[in-house]
Amino acid sequence: MAEREYGPGTKAVHAGLPPAEPGTPFQAGPVFAAPFHLAGDPFQTPFGYARYSNPTWAAYEQALAELEGATGASAFASGMAACSAVLLSTLTPGDVLVAPDDGYPMVRTIADGHLAERGVETRYVATAGDWAPLLEGARLVWIETPSNPGLDLCDVEAIAAAAHEAGALVALDNTLATALGQSPLALGCDFAVSSNTKATTGHGDVLMGHVATRDEALATQIHDWRSQTGGVPGPFEAWLAHRSLASLDVRLERQCANAQALAEALSARGDVTDVRYPGLATHPRHELAARQMRRFGMVVSFTLESAERAQAFLSACDLVIEATSFGGIHSSAERRGRWGHGDHVAEGFIRFSAGCEDTADLVADVNSALDQTQ
Ligand SMILES: *Cc1c(COP(=O)(O)O)cnc(C)c1O
Repeated sequence: MAEREYGPGTKAVHAGLPPAEPGTPFQAGPVFAAPFHLAGDPFQTPFGYARYSNPTWAAYEQALAELEGATGASAFASGMAACSAVLLSTLTPGDVLVAPDDGYPMVRTIADGHLAERGVETRYVATAGDWAPLLEGARLVWIETPSNPGLDLCDVEAIAAAAHEAGALVALDNTLATALGQSPLALGCDFAVSSNTKATTGHGDVLMGHVATRDEALATQIHDWRSQTGGVPGPFEAWLAHRSLASLDVRLERQCANAQALAEALSARGDVTDVRYPGLATHPRHELAARQMRRFGMVVSFTLESAERAQAFLSACDLVIEATSFGGIHSSAERRGRWGHGDHVAEGFIRFSAGCEDTADLVADVNSALDQTQ
């Protein structure tokens, strides 16, 4: 894009689009190919075989890199393909991983399974806990802030600085905030990791993930891992993801405003406890959130007194879809305890993802469902 530094919304709309050629579309369609024409010298083009590269991902990755302030990004077939690319390509036997004990559970599943079996030790710490004593001798520090589903925060700049001091690399799972809500690389992290299945694509229609970095060697490490292990996105999914990226800032604007309004409305009620949202002044790390996040996110959590009331509340909502995942244009919510494993939360704990409905309609629907189930 042009020499001038544009705002995040402008970048999101234009990032990764091809030059304006008469008679061509604004965004090129998906390129469906496994092998490409490749006579003679195989290095004449970056596109020879689609496990290595594809023009549709290349455009999407260029856009992601621009939004992340990265020099390169690799798109993956899912968020976990992106997370595991960082974990498994970085950690070797004898290494130490420091990771949150209250983050996305599948990261712990990999740490306690595949990584432990390969002789990697994991030191766990609460997201809001004291990270400094655990960093010595670490190879990789994994951060997720705000944490999912507890919405705790940690100071990314402070942890990244201390981790680098200790000789460790730092990865931030930025799924909840997205590249437009928080900038992991600018805060000092080596890897920005995201499940784009959530808010980054935001329509509940694709699985996607990415890893971005400013370090040439790390970018090659991640790209090589993807080429070798094959967790590549399909061209149609990458194209959908790129198309959805254009509206990310607009979606976040409405979603975060809805989440803020909902968090305030819930806080005003006597029949809801533990309302948590980084944008609330009552959040224990609100000032940190205001410092390191551009937007406070679309996820609000709160607790109802029992599993029964939580389920009844979800059934009584007209606009809120009962479903897992978060970040989409449709408001959705779930009782996390229904999974019976993973998150350490109360039985009546609700994770609520605010969508793009009109604020007044959404707040009225939630208040009405709570009133009906009192
Ligand atoms: C959903 C999620 C993932 C995994 O992403 P998939 O796209 O489902 O593979 C990883 N980290 C966080 C924080 C998530 O919310």
